[in-house]
Amino acid sequence: MNAQGLNIGNAQELRELYRELILDHARSPRHFGKLPHATHSAEGINPLCGDKLKLYLDVDDASNIRAACFEGSGCAISVASASLLTETIIGLSEKEAIAWFTAVTTRLTHGDPTGEFSAVDLGKLEALEGVREFPARVKCATLAWHALRSALQQRPAPVSTE
Ligand code: ZN
Repeated sequence: MNAQGLNIGNAQELRELYRELILDHARSPRHFGKLPHATHSAEGINPLCGDKLKLYLDVDDASNIRAACFEGSGCAISVASASLLTETIIGLSEKEAIAWFTAVTTRLTHGDPTGEFSAVDLGKLEALEGVREFPARVKCATLAWHALRSALQQRPAPVSTE
């Protein structure tokens, strides 16, 4: 996409760009599939919408995330969010990934009332911030992130939004 002509001050254009980014990731999710040598995995289920995904991680001995993949099915928001998650966390340490979990889930759920995360650059994930106006969609957008935390904490039971 050519961002040259994009006027960031134009909220309508920005929304359109975000919508395209979400649809692109929903149609062609990145890192989609099973990870053969996963060290961590977790399932996420959002019964309200029917989103179901499984996240796989390969974490090395130094606690760095070498690879991340996911599989499953769900609405465009849940799939795009999982796709963006894998792009974001590959190469991060476990600690950094948890910090992202906190920043993303807080911003998508509550905004940033205390200003705690105002300095956090969510990058492409800002495309998902529009879900905040739609509480039912927040669960779609944060599902993969809850699965991430669950995987890193090695929780045996699937996480459910309900
Ligand atoms: Zn959904």
